[in-house]
Amino acid sequence: MHSSSTDSQSIWHIAVPTPLHTGFDYLGPVHTPPPAAGVRVRVPFGRRLAIGILLEIKQQAAVEQKKLKPILNLIDVNPVLPPDLLALGRWASDYYHHPIGAVLHHMLPALVRQGLPAVAHTESIWRVAAAGKDLDPASLQRAPKQQALLVTLQQNPAGLAAEVLDAGHANWRPAMQALCDKGWAERASLAPVNTPRTVVQPAFDLNPDQQQALNAVCSNLNGFNRWLLEGVTGSGKTEVYLGIIEQVLALGRQALVLVPEIGLTPQLLQRFSSRLSVPITVIHSHLSDRQRLNAWLSAASGEARVIIGTRSAIFIPLARPGAIIIDEEHDGSFKQNDGFRYHARDLAIVRAQHLDIPVVMGSATPSLESLLNVQQARYQRLHLPVRTGPAQLPHITVLDARNTPAGQAISSPLQQRVRQHLAAGNQVLIFLNRRGYAPIYMCRACGWSADCQRCDAHMTVHRVRDLLCCHHCGAERPLPRNCPDCNLAELFVLGLGTEQVEEYFQEHFPDYKSVRIDRDTTRRKGQLEQSLQLAHSGTARILIGTQMLAKGHHFPQVTLVGILGIDQALFSADFRGPEYMAQLVTQVSGRAGRAERAGEVLIESRQPQHPLLHALITRGYRAFADAALAERQAAQLPPYTRMALIRAEAVSAQHALGFLAALRTQLQSNMQGSPILLLGPAPAPMERRAGRYRAHLLLQANQPRVLHSALQCVPVLVAGLPQRKSVRWSIDVDPSEMF
Ligand code: ADP
Ligand code: ZN
Ligand code: ZN
Repeated sequence: MHSSSTDSQSIWHIAVPTPLHTGFDYLGPVHTPPPAAGVRVRVPFGRRLAIGILLEIKQQAAVEQKKLKPILNLIDVNPVLPPDLLALGRWASDYYHHPIGAVLHHMLPALVRQGLPAVAHTESIWRVAAAGKDLDPASLQRAPKQQALLVTLQQNPAGLAAEVLDAGHANWRPAMQALCDKGWAERASLAPVNTPRTVVQPAFDLNPDQQQALNAVCSNLNGFNRWLLEGVTGSGKTEVYLGIIEQVLALGRQALVLVPEIGLTPQLLQRFSSRLSVPITVIHSHLSDRQRLNAWLSAASGEARVIIGTRSAIFIPLARPGAIIIDEEHDGSFKQNDGFRYHARDLAIVRAQHLDIPVVMGSATPSLESLLNVQQARYQRLHLPVRTGPAQLPHITVLDARNTPAGQAISSPLQQRVRQHLAAGNQVLIFLNRRGYAPIYMCRACGWSADCQRCDAHMTVHRVRDLLCCHHCGAERPLPRNCPDCNLAELFVLGLGTEQVEEYFQEHFPDYKSVRIDRDTTRRKGQLEQSLQLAHSGTARILIGTQMLAKGHHFPQVTLVGILGIDQALFSADFRGPEYMAQLVTQVSGRAGRAERAGEVLIESRQPQHPLLHALITRGYRAFADAALAERQAAQLPPYTRMALIRAEAVSAQHALGFLAALRTQLQSNMQGSPILLLGPAPAPMERRAGRYRAHLLLQANQPRVLHSALQCVPVLVAGLPQRKSVRWSIDVDPSEMF
């Protein structure tokens, strides 16, 4: 090394959140003892300031030292990203071909990203006081603001942060003060973890299959092992998770539990906290930024011993990691479908490997990817073939819906069975994965249909809100009474949504209370809990809903499940369509007969002889999956091959397609001799969405290595393309949907 005046300064390599794929060199401060990688720094970047993460300290810069800008200041003493998360971030940046700065930023809570100190501040919340719990809000008729607040508080007994109240109630503080003065509401501070109970419920006596699964995992908690816990719905997988967690806790370690977005129900938390006498923290999308930071810190410090969360919880720092559990590993919500397009299950495996701890993936309907991994002996399979206790798996029948008269929501045979089950004192569940009243609105006179102006899609009729709504871009318009084209009153609806099903049941079964659970009826905080309460208590006898109702719930009195509208999934443009259909049908069916009363499932289809449907109902999910795997292998589709989509969108179709065509030409000459398959460019199945035209270029290879060496050149090649200026583009590795 030479000695010049700058030599005492070291080169800090910093990840800055930009679309560029590299880290950047800066001059580190002179006298600081070198900090550990993973601390935040403030740096000048172009004409702005940015918050970056220190990746490493180097001796040699990539460019001349004189050109380097100095670090402005060091924010942290201790890293906000521990080594295992830095390693995970680097791995993810390489694998998903997403810029390292953007990946690391994504991993941090918003307040940490913004540069706030990574220390806990307890946040005030407001909640209903004991005296206000059962108060009839009608008594506050003359104080509408207080009335509205009280309703909100009663719906959210756990309390709400100021930030959340701000969003729903303008200038709420004086009204809140009035409620507090009357003793109906109170201010409290919210700890990021629950207060653990001293006395917990004892575990069940596990059945032999459960015991065997538990023993297998616990025989080696000290190393990296991948387990697939395949257990039919109601077979007691959650009990196995709890058993594993108990042993992990006994070793003084933490457990991270990932659940699907709609799997994170109050019942699940209740179950965990009533069984485990340790602090538990929960991470989900309804937390305020401050709550999220507090939860994050409680995991990082080791205070929270069990961390339960949705997809993004895979990035939670853990002081003493012991095991990672992924419930419903097949669930689509583990894949992030915009920006940094990662798969939380796949990252969980990588993280567990870095940490050298076990990872347990559970499902009644494992993904084809995981089943192939079992076949290839990468995962070890644990099997729970039967339901616990007296519960039997329900009997499934397909009903021919071709003869159902137009205008009748459900077929006559289904209607008859519903009547019988209700008369016997049971609950019925009607599943339809389409919210709104009807997917199509048309004019009988001139053929006009309500289409979205910004998407290649029909707008859905929402009768309750008296709107037309596009489910792809969110556009809304008033529901016309007369045809906008010919002005005649000849408009009619086509197809079925959950609102219409609800209306049908209210009309035909007026003596039985129904509850509809979909995104429209659960938009406001607390509504979902309320509706689930109606379902669990048995007050509502008819449960109508979308996939929000399909998974995880345990409704002991449901004996009949009716499944509507699955035909479109059988004819999906996506090669994964049938897999998703089979998973959903199996999961929904699993809601039937979960206690002593036997269950039955009726599926309406206009394709009652469809071979995949037939395989599924006569021989079960596993037989279906084996057939589907054979088809994928024959067609050379994932999981037998690897795919990546390069997506582009622009204001015109020519721009999007032209950009990808140019990229394809470049890639082809770059990858000469490589066994990579380039398909397209082609317009996306829904070409226009939210006013932008979308196109794909599909890359496919037998070896991940081949795919990744091609993807590696993409950012460089794109940088040389003049067409890049008129498009937004992204790389989607292992895409889970082709739209
Ligand atoms: P899964 O997660 O596989 O759907 P759960 O763990 O929710 O299944 O179990 C289904 C039901 O059976 C729950 O009500 C649970 O309390 C009960 N259960 C689980 N294991 C046992 C057992 N060994 N003995 C009795 N009941 C059990
Ligand atoms: Zn018309
Ligand atoms: Zn639209």
